[in-house]
Parts: sequence; structure tokens; C-alpha cells
Amino acid sequence: MYKNIVILTGAGISAESGIPVFRSETGLWETEKVEDVCTHEAILRNPSRVHNFYNRLRANLQDKKPNAAHYAIANLQKLWPQKFAGKVTLVTQNVDNLHEKAGSFDIIHMHGALMSIFCTNCGHHYEFDGDSSTKSVCAFCGKTALRPDIVFFGEMPYFMDEISDALQKCDLFLAIGTSGVVYPAAVFCSFARDMGARCVEFNLEKSAQATNFTDGIYGKASLTVPKFCEELLLNGTFLN
Ligand code: NAD
Repeated sequence: MYKNIVILTGAGISAESGIPVFRSETGLWETEKVEDVCTHEAILRNPSRVHNFYNRLRANLQDKKPNAAHYAIANLQKLWPQKFAGKVTLVTQNVDNLHEKAGSFDIIHMHGALMSIFCTNCGHHYEFDGDSSTKSVCAFCGKTALRPDIVFFGEMPYFMDEISDALQKCDLFLAIGTSGVVYPAAVFCSFARDMGARCVEFNLEKSAQATNFTDGIYGKASLTVPKFCEELLLNGTFLN
């Protein structure tokens, strides 16, 4: 039986909820180049363009609903400690709020969150729902130094100490809907495996990191994840 589980989610888990994955050919993420909206240089060069891009993504979340995979994870997080006295740590690369909407808690948003804003003057991160601009004023320090609370390419992801600690302690690592090409999340599997964890990837097809996993479960996350979580909650383990 397993005890401590780390779940890493990526854009693929939200695809069936209507939020395009990073490398899709349609959708908001394709209207701009990464270097124009997701780098430190971009926000220095053209801050309005960066604010507007994330305003559109934030607005796009309003009518989006979690799917069965988000709900299954929330249920696992709630029931696992009661049934097996273990812990489920949820780490997401996603900046959407679908895990929150599904009822998950203590979500580690390692790449930031659209429903949050960051003040570069006083360092506060706080909940934000609306449009930001270069004229937006920080609720804490009153300065016009707000930026989307998104970890840009080249910046250090958030909560790396907590994530590293959870990976060291876990005996089961699940990666759901992630291509395994964005670092450092791409090496979490190898790290957990070297620490002795069983590692399972859930994807439509084998990812770039597939050979590092002990198991692979392929198909739509909305189907594979609930089935897997159900078995795990019944037996404390799973057969594959
Ligand atoms: P990615 O777009 O690089 O890869 C998505 C993966 O999900 C692919 O391997 C794909 O095969 C798989 N996938 C697609 N549909 C699936 C489904 N229904 N079931 C299971 N798997 C499915 O995403 P990534 O690895 O998360 O990296 C992209 C970066 O872009 C991340 O840092 C993330 O922050 C950001 N991003 C976030 C969102 C979001 O918040 N929803 C959306 C797009 C991109």
C-alpha cells in the first residue's frame, strides 16, 4: 500500500474542459509568441501587451468547468488521508483555476496563477479577478507595479523547496497531461524514482519522458484518472 502521493498536472488535464494545451494549433496561447508575452524582457519591452494577453486568458476561465479528472483528484485528496493515513500533494503547472473549482486544496501552483496578481514593488501575491494594466495599483503598497502572477520562461518556479520535500517523501508519483519538456517539472519523475517512488504517467500517448516512468496509462485523462483513483481508494494500491 502506498502512503504519500505527489500528483503533477499539466495542460492536458484541462484540455477536455476547453482550455487549449500549450502546443495546440488553436486557441489563445497561439495568438502570441511566448517571447512576446511570457518572458521578463517582454514585460519590460511592452507591458500592456503582456497584461492584455493574461487578461484574455483570465476572462476565458470564467465559463470553464472542471472535468472528471479534476474531480477525481479532489476526491482522492480528501479521502486518502482518512483511509490510508497518507498525504496527497497536488502540484500543477497550470495557471487555470480548475483544481480549485473541483474542490482541491493546498494546490501548489508552481508556474503561478491567472487568478492572482504580483506586486514587483512590495512582493505581495494576492487574489485578483479582473483586468490588470500598467495603471493598476497594488492593494498593499499603492504603487503601480503589478504584473500577472505568472512564472515567465527563465524565472524560477514557485515553491521548489516544498515540491522537492514532497518528492523525497513520496512513494507514488503521478504525472497527468504533461508533455515533460518544460523544466524543472520534466525531471520530477526521475527524482521521485531515484528516491524509490513508483511513477505513473497519464497521457494520450507516450511523452518525451515516458521511459523514466515505471508505468504509463494512456487515454483521455477524464476517463483514465477517475478509474485509477477509484482503484487506489479501494485497495491503497493498483494493478497495471
Ligand atoms: P503541454 O501543452 O506541453 O503538454 C500537454 C500534454 O497533455 C501533451 O503531452 C498531450 O499529449 C497531453 N494531453 C492532451 N490532452 C490530454 C487529455 N485529454 N488527457 C491526457 N493527456 C492529454 O503542457 P505542459 O506539459 O503542462 O507544459 C506547458 C506549459 O504551459 C506549462 O508550464 C503550463 O503552465 C502552461 N499552460 C497552462 C495551461 C493551463 O493552465 N490550462 C494551458 C496551456 C499551457
